[in-house]
Amino acid sequence: MEAIQEKLKIIAPATGEQIGEVLETPVSQVDSFYQKGRTAFKQWSSLTVAERGKYLSLLKEIMVEQMEEIAKTVAADTGKVVTEALVADIMPTLDSIDHILKHGEEVLQRQKVKTPLLLIGKKSFVEYMPRGVVLIISPWNYPLQLAMVPMISALASGNTVILKPSEVTPLVGKCIEELFSKAGFPIGVVQVAHGGKEVGAAFTNGKPDYIFFTGSVRTGKVIQQVAAKELIPTTLELGGKDPMIVFADAHLERAAKGAAWAAFTNSGQVCMSAERLYVEKTIYPAFLSLLKKEILTLKQGTDEDSDVGSMTFPAQKEIVKDQLVEALKSGAKLETGLLPEQWGDGMFLPLTIVSNVNHEMKLIQEESFGPLLPIIPFESEEEVIRLANDTVYGLNASVWTKDRDKARRVASQLVSGAVVINDAIISIANHGLPFGGAKQSGIGRYHGDAGLRIFCHEKAIIEDNGRKKTEIHWYPYQDKYPLFIQLFKSYFRTNRDWLKFTQTYLRILKKN
Ligand code: NAD
Repeated sequence: MEAIQEKLKIIAPATGEQIGEVLETPVSQVDSFYQKGRTAFKQWSSLTVAERGKYLSLLKEIMVEQMEEIAKTVAADTGKVVTEALVADIMPTLDSIDHILKHGEEVLQRQKVKTPLLLIGKKSFVEYMPRGVVLIISPWNYPLQLAMVPMISALASGNTVILKPSEVTPLVGKCIEELFSKAGFPIGVVQVAHGGKEVGAAFTNGKPDYIFFTGSVRTGKVIQQVAAKELIPTTLELGGKDPMIVFADAHLERAAKGAAWAAFTNSGQVCMSAERLYVEKTIYPAFLSLLKKEILTLKQGTDEDSDVGSMTFPAQKEIVKDQLVEALKSGAKLETGLLPEQWGDGMFLPLTIVSNVNHEMKLIQEESFGPLLPIIPFESEEEVIRLANDTVYGLNASVWTKDRDKARRVASQLVSGAVVINDAIISIANHGLPFGGAKQSGIGRYHGDAGLRIFCHEKAIIEDNGRKKTEIHWYPYQDKYPLFIQLFKSYFRTNRDWLKFTQTYLRILKKN
């Protein structure tokens, strides 16, 4: 009997209007998804990287053709500004396809590795073998990029993919499904399972060969526990509470514009947005006034001329509000924005800067994921490094100064997956750099070479030509022990004794 599929309404957060519907995937179909994925894997994994690349090239062509339509879909589903849908969702996806088409073959081909002299006559290699069916679970804030980049990487590496996109942005989930279908990927190579956390949990329990998860720390921990039961390898891309550090010698106007963008792009719903702004005391008043001036110029809306979009997920609005209420009760001062009781019902939140905060407040310790930025003065390099590291997160950070040595010195001491100097967030835009978090911001890396190889078993191969009858380390051991002592002493001492090494080696050979 066919399972009944529930229709989920898709509501645009910026307008509150229904913009579509999606059929939820019944959890009774989990097994058949995996079966299809495993069947397709046999054929897909046997293609060369270049053959798989042809499908990715076509996917890219279709995306380029339909760029504006996709941007509008992403903007409608998330409430983000259409320019940000283009620059921060579509562009990084296209760029990752380009990067993989250019480097994929080289990264995934058999790599020769040096063989130590003691293993005379052998050759060593590393091979990358696709894992099988990869489950990708993605969030709502960059629903296209954060689903498609791991999908493309897993596919290029020879895996088949099941995507469970966020239920908060199902229209983008449908759009991704259509894009892959238009690009003609063979049946079962890409499957999309729509629905919420119950669907996600059912697929996590379905024994995928790898789980690539992007989302909250809370869900990441649940997924890691489920994966542990079957020892399923995972990559977890989780939350952040990124510090932005502005030293007195920074280009202040640039830093103020940068702070406004880093805190409020995507309405602050960025895992790597600036969520704590540390400003050197001597320039604090001047910087704050520049920042306030900059914020006054920003226009909220979703059209091409707007700067800051709406919130995407209604529940997130309450988290931001709760953090602001707690801070204000404990003496924080509102520098820009409105008091929480003045917020309306809509999803566009006031762009809020808060001063007079302390490190015990929720808005410093917990991810805000909204347009809320606490500003904190600091006196010394040592102090600001300590404050910046005083968090359970470690995704990204930024350091603003014209002193390159100081910038690099501070960057090296931040416990963070990435650091950007005199800019923010953009490390994710270079697909050649590894991406991932430290501490509770996640486990593992993607992008770059690692982004393809995580989806493979890294197989060590050592090869002998098989012409010798025996090996010195095989049986019999009789009389070999003292000779091995001599062999290793002559080999490993600082000034290697080649003559003794060769003589001893030949003597051991004779014992075989
Ligand atoms: P979330 O954890 O609530 O949901 C993420 C995905 O997991 C969704 O598809 C959801 O349906 C699914 N899910 C929820 N519970 C599940 C379960 N028990 N089993 C399986 N799947 C389950 O996160 P969100 O609210 O969608 O996204 C926002 C969070 O994502 C923020 O914390 C943000 O910092 C983080 N994020 C991290 C990165 C990164 O690259 N590090 C990027 C973007 C967002």
